[in-house]
Amino acid sequence: MPWTRSDELLDELEERLVEVRRDLHKYPELGFEEHRTQALLRAWLQEFGYEPRDCAGTGLVADLEPETGSQLPAIALRADIDALPIQEVSDLPYRSEHAGVAHKCGHDGHAAVMLGVAAALASMRGQLSRRVRLLFQPAEEGVKGGGGQVMVAEGALEGVSEVYGMHNWPGFPFGELRIAPGPVMAEEHTILLRLDGKGGHASQPQTCRDPVAAIAQMVTALNSITSRGMGHVGGAVLSISCIQAGDTHNVIPGFASLEGTLRCFDENLRDRLLERVREVVAGVASAMQVEADLQLERGFPILHNDKACAEHVRVAAERRLGADRVSAEGLPLVASEDFSYLAQAVPGAYFFMGAGREGRETPSCHHPEFDFDDELIPIAARVFLEVVRERCP
Ligand SMILES: [Zn+2]
Ligand SMILES: [Zn+2]
Repeated sequence: MPWTRSDELLDELEERLVEVRRDLHKYPELGFEEHRTQALLRAWLQEFGYEPRDCAGTGLVADLEPETGSQLPAIALRADIDALPIQEVSDLPYRSEHAGVAHKCGHDGHAAVMLGVAAALASMRGQLSRRVRLLFQPAEEGVKGGGGQVMVAEGALEGVSEVYGMHNWPGFPFGELRIAPGPVMAEEHTILLRLDGKGGHASQPQTCRDPVAAIAQMVTALNSITSRGMGHVGGAVLSISCIQAGDTHNVIPGFASLEGTLRCFDENLRDRLLERVREVVAGVASAMQVEADLQLERGFPILHNDKACAEHVRVAAERRLGADRVSAEGLPLVASEDFSYLAQAVPGAYFFMGAGREGRETPSCHHPEFDFDDELIPIAARVFLEVVRERCP
């Protein structure tokens, strides 16, 4: 059966895939709580002859063996499946039924894309020269840690030599694919700082050690680490996004706190930046006579695309979409993603499918009005299938 048959299959399934996507959208579940989602995905995979096994609690691993035995190691394709703790703002007929939870990153769409890939591949077993493993990963949003790390720890990539993943991206034009070798998404550290001084009457600051004045100095000093100290090397970004201090106009409070984020694309630079944050906090706290309690919480690591894997995606995508729709423009992105754990375990590549519509504003991922663009389902599925084809010589 020729590979073109997979196109016909996807055409036949398109309506059903949109239905599944909207069903997932209507009943979103947070990380490690994707029980209904998992049951729905399992039923679909079983319908197409897979025997999926549970992984990372609410995730699934489904293998497709080639018809003829193969010595080649497996390749894995990964979709994330969790929703976000966001209240949906929408009058869509399939809007979220779960208060405060919604698919605002498009993982409902990613799951539907992978179901399309699963169905098409199942009828292409005769064309495969290696096992293909489909990964449905819970908890990408990091609400309770990353599911990608748990899946790797539970052996989801054993016997796998390459892994591929995808994210829809409204910031790129619809139907365009973005891929690059090297770092494509950032490592994130959350900065949590509390300053303890000595409160008192606002008319007598000389009797106090003012944490409000200290926190103001702290914001300026921290912001200057990247803007004054690092230039554009490694694409470092530091933002202080939250300050809390005091309750009223005539009382100097006893403490103040701030939160922020630090992101970059280079491990050496990351170490230097963290060192500078510690130095600046200690220095300003000392100068302003307050005690500092600094916590730096590490988020997902830098996502590095393997050079050869990124090239496979580029070649496959150019064949499917045309060379004018494939580029590295706009990469790397300063967002972060726990596919990085998978790409640390085996060589991998992560690509972005543009979802931005011309002439109208497309809400970004995590925006309360965001909704996955259903027309991306067959396009992204075809790219994944073409990557498999590229890797099944
Ligand atoms: Zn997200
Ligand atoms: Zn996402």
